[in-house]
Amino acid sequence: MVREIKFRTGMAKCTEYLDLVQMVLDGQASRSQEVYLKRHLNMCLKCLEHYNLDQEIKKLVQLKLASKEVPEGLADAIKTKIAKSA
Ligand SMILES: [Zn+2]
Repeated sequence: MVREIKFRTGMAKCTEYLDLVQMVLDGQASRSQEVYLKRHLNMCLKCLEHYNLDQEIKKLVQLKLASKEVPEGLADAIKTKIAKSA
């Protein structure tokens, strides 16, 4: 999944990290992959925002799957973020 990653050009390889974001959020990533991603998130606001947004979406999906009430504020906040990042 995570192909060759060049540390020096890390910033230009954000698409590599986006795969990793999904894996970490799905609990599929290994410990070292998670650490690797977190290190990038500390340096890269773009990926951090992506991570946070995906995390909130997953939370929302889980609430829906559990047929729980989705707080209105949360749904709106996510919609706004998606609109902004689109
Ligand atoms: Zn990045």
